Amino acid sequence: MKASLTVCVCLTTFLWAGPKPKTRTEALIFTNVNVVSVRDGTIARGMTVVIKRGRISGVAKVGFVGQGHDIQIVNADGKYMVPGLWDMHVHSAFVSPAWDEKVIYPLYIANGITGVRDMGGDPDVLENRRQRIESGDLLGPRLILAGPFLAGGKSDRQTIAVNTPEDARQAVDAVKKQGLDFVKILSNVPRDSYFAIADESAKQNVPFVGHVPYSVSVREAVTAGQKSIEHLTGVLLACSSREDELRTQELTALAKRDYLAYEKLGPQIISTYDQARARALFLQLAQSHTWQVPTLVWTEANSRIDDPDLESDPRLKYVPASVRAQWDPAKLRANTSPEELAALKTEAARDVELVKAMHSAGVRFMAGSDGPDPYVFPGFSLHDELDWLVKSGSTPLQALQSATLNPALFLGRIDKYGLVEPEHVADLVLLDANPLDDIRNAGKIFGVVANGKYYSRKDLDIMLQRVEKLASQE
Ligand SMILES: [Zn+2]
Repeated sequence: MKASLTVCVCLTTFLWAGPKPKTRTEALIFTNVNVVSVRDGTIARGMTVVIKRGRISGVAKVGFVGQGHDIQIVNADGKYMVPGLWDMHVHSAFVSPAWDEKVIYPLYIANGITGVRDMGGDPDVLENRRQRIESGDLLGPRLILAGPFLAGGKSDRQTIAVNTPEDARQAVDAVKKQGLDFVKILSNVPRDSYFAIADESAKQNVPFVGHVPYSVSVREAVTAGQKSIEHLTGVLLACSSREDELRTQELTALAKRDYLAYEKLGPQIISTYDQARARALFLQLAQSHTWQVPTLVWTEANSRIDDPDLESDPRLKYVPASVRAQWDPAKLRANTSPEELAALKTEAARDVELVKAMHSAGVRFMAGSDGPDPYVFPGFSLHDELDWLVKSGSTPLQALQSATLNPALFLGRIDKYGLVEPEHVADLVLLDANPLDDIRNAGKIFGVVANGKYYSRKDLDIMLQRVEKLASQE
């Protein structure tokens, strides 16, 4: 999400309370299910999966599944079960509570996304939602919160200005005190503030993630301990044989607000790509376990604003009119110079090649969409991102891991998330076809278990119809 996007988050959260989740049964049991292990891609066929109190209590090849009053049994009939998907880069408190809770969250669940990492938004609104989702008052994905944006400039409800190292330390302290999971950095953070964030984050034991600022190199970010890098920020520049010199030119252009001069540096960065430097950087990223969230679907959406097919995307029916107005391609084009659009197209193509090279060096990836930026559809676009990851060198299993196992590893919660194994939370997706044959099968959803409650295809269709109706009424 671009930092310049100013959005109003209304305070009427409770007036707009979103849909309620189902009530939980004593036990939820799936029979005849093919369980996909995202550890190694093996499939255990004809299994029974037992869920109690929101946790997986057993995965076994048994006939007897227990008895009692309040047991829901679903014959999965050979469907494929995978862990609930995570979208590791979203903004879910951005437009208004009506849109966020009634539209965005159901779209995630309907697409099998049972967890999201929110990468910036009003922390009070988000913390309130996190609690309501966990307690069963609100239907939505599990929320991991990066809290407010830390950025240069001015503070607002969702941004903490970090113009000095002192600001930076106080911002990390505030994030920690609020119980948020990460510190999120934007591109315009000054260099000394960045290193103060890194230092304070280490002291306070709260990881920092986000963009690599213009003023910092990716190598420095890795050494400083940045845990995830979004949108491949700074990676291509760090592969240039003229990295330092081009960074200085970038910073000069940005300081003068000379965006044309800034864009013109793009081709130079690409033409000075140095294989050996790139290889060394990627090995460093791999060895340091610095996670990449390339959001290829977002970069591609930004580069496609001249595509005449945009306005006929069938998923637009889920986008409220007020948001569609912001997505008007003519408006987006008016805000983008031809040079900028050309640069975005080059960047989108280059990013795919970059991810291929990084992937072959063993760099770790997580799937993230950056919805709901224009033409990044909450829920749906994560499936496009998985497809992009396959086009960028991942196997279907690796792409699936980027939305299941890898987020769990990244969060340090492989004991709880990302696997269909006992003791793990019952966030699951049932698929009509094997996602390891074709990653697009991850979008063929038969049913979803969110926080231990089962939503059949029929339930999900009703959810989608409701969103469509709301979007059309708005
Ligand atoms: Zn974002």
